[in-house]
Amino acid sequence: MDNIYDLIIIGAGPGGLAAGLYGARAKMKTLVLEKEKMGGQIVSTSEVENYPGSVENATGPSLTKRFTEQAEKFGAEIKMANVKEVNFDGKIKEVVCDNETYKAKSIVIATGASPKKIGCPGEKEFTGKGVSYCATCDADFFEDFEVIVVGGGDSALEEAIYLTKFARKVYLVHRRDTFKACNTVIENTKANDKIEMWLNKEIIEIKGDGILESVVLKDTVTGETSEYFADEDDGTMGVFIFIGFNPQTELFKDKVELRNGYIVTDEEMRTNIDGVFAAGDVREKSLRQVVTAAADGAIAAVNAEKYINENF
Ligand code: NAP
Repeated sequence: MDNIYDLIIIGAGPGGLAAGLYGARAKMKTLVLEKEKMGGQIVSTSEVENYPGSVENATGPSLTKRFTEQAEKFGAEIKMANVKEVNFDGKIKEVVCDNETYKAKSIVIATGASPKKIGCPGEKEFTGKGVSYCATCDADFFEDFEVIVVGGGDSALEEAIYLTKFARKVYLVHRRDTFKACNTVIENTKANDKIEMWLNKEIIEIKGDGILESVVLKDTVTGETSEYFADEDDGTMGVFIFIGFNPQTELFKDKVELRNGYIVTDEEMRTNIDGVFAAGDVREKSLRQVVTAAADGAIAAVNAEKYINENF
């Protein structure tokens, strides 16, 4: 069984990399597969203040680098590969990628979640030309410009505060007049005089001629619409959208039990399929944070080891 891994982890966010660290450190032959970018959602996070023990000014990318190096130090193999299909039917599981098929005794699914889209006209057209889902990646394009941030959760409010370091003015568009974000973040947002809140509003269209020039807003209470144009001297503005996430479970439909699109596990991170575990934001859970994803990854890898010892 030389070419068979003990553990294959699909996804290299905090959950997947923590599983990689625990798997490799337990001397399991461990492979982490990532299709896009190491770190998952945290690479889009400008500051990570609430991960216990993180160094001052820790950013998503810097934390990802440390997660990755630590997993590799203990021997986890990390490969960039797009998983096309999985087969969990037999005792040996198969993970089919574009160029190769990998086999393993156990699997941890840690594919995370991807940013939700508003779905309005112009959003797709202007993505990368004014519309962004990542302040860390794109904030500096809007140095001294105006930007609009959409959403009322922790992500939107935290990133709105971060964007004030770059933008001249930040307008926060939220469809209600109360927030999902925690109280401290709400207070900090309200106290920031570069942020103006446009409450009970939603964006129904994003317009421009090649570059983003205006947004059409609808009042969610009165139904009235209005159009906000970029300052004439600026010519454009940024629209940063942080309205939640969709679980990345397309590959696992009909393979493991899902609820509302998320993977159902028990406290040991076991799915309904023997030898298949899940960790991080892809899992049905109440608190989606770096610390909970990392904890899930550790639990999943430890239980994968137990499963292998008992079954092989
Ligand atoms: P979230 O908490 O689900 O909030 C999404 C926000 O977007 C809500 O205010 C929602 O409005 C709004 N929204 C959803 N769909 C919309 C649409 N189609 N058009 C306009 N607005 C829409 O998502 P999140 O802020 O990304 O946070 C996700 C999880 O990560 C949360 O558990 C959060 O606490 C956590 N998080 C934590 C931190 C931290 O602790 N440092 C940082 C970031 C995120 P409604 O309120 O009207 O539903």
